[in-house]
Amino acid sequence: MPDIASNIISLKRQIPPSVKIVTVSKTRPVSDILEAYNTGHKIFGENRVQELLSKKDQLPGDIEWHLIGHLQSNKVKYIIPFISMIESVDSFRLLEIINAEGMKINRVVDCLLQFHIAREETKYGFSRNEVIEMIQSEDYKRLKSIKICGVMGMATFTDNEKQVREEFRYLAGCFFELKNSCFSGDTSFREISMGMSGDYKIAIEEGSTLIRIGSIIFGERN
Ligand SMILES: *Cc1c(COP(=O)(O)O)cnc(C)c1O
Repeated sequence: MPDIASNIISLKRQIPPSVKIVTVSKTRPVSDILEAYNTGHKIFGENRVQELLSKKDQLPGDIEWHLIGHLQSNKVKYIIPFISMIESVDSFRLLEIINAEGMKINRVVDCLLQFHIAREETKYGFSRNEVIEMIQSEDYKRLKSIKICGVMGMATFTDNEKQVREEFRYLAGCFFELKNSCFSGDTSFREISMGMSGDYKIAIEEGSTLIRIGSIIFGERN
């Protein structure tokens, strides 16, 4: 049995205080999440809306939930009232739907733009050029109920450290390029979400501000 509380505390000791942990609780029972929460930790990530909704109601209301998996348009409305951040915005259409649902309840929703940085075909996300084009479009400028707070990406699943590092470096480069152009002067644009249990050390060296960690805290998933 992993000691969830000590895992989270020792991980926090290892990383710079400026780096935040999103504790990835997908597939874990509510009791495990509570154990992490009871150390004082507040930020949790789930990748499926259905699972998130069923857990959220059994857990304290001050948890900051991040959606980190691909989000289907028809599920957006269920999370808009409470979600702290949608990290996995991977299309303009999705951003428009989030905006529309946010408007209905008068809420500005914090979002990250997910970049496709891995060599794998299957991972969702924008290319750099798609993001630049979107941000400069008139359609994007009309969206008032979303706030873009930074970027997110997943590196290739590989033992090749050099490749992982290059992908993280590329994502951080995209972040700073945007920060210095489209988002200059916008202090909300501040997060680089990269790094998971297997590669968070490299991600932090390359400038990550948010690491998304599951297995190190809760043990391996089945
Ligand atoms: C599952 C998941 C993680 C965490 O993975 P671990 O290897 O268990 O730390 C991080 N990010 C995303 C998008 C995930 O789906």
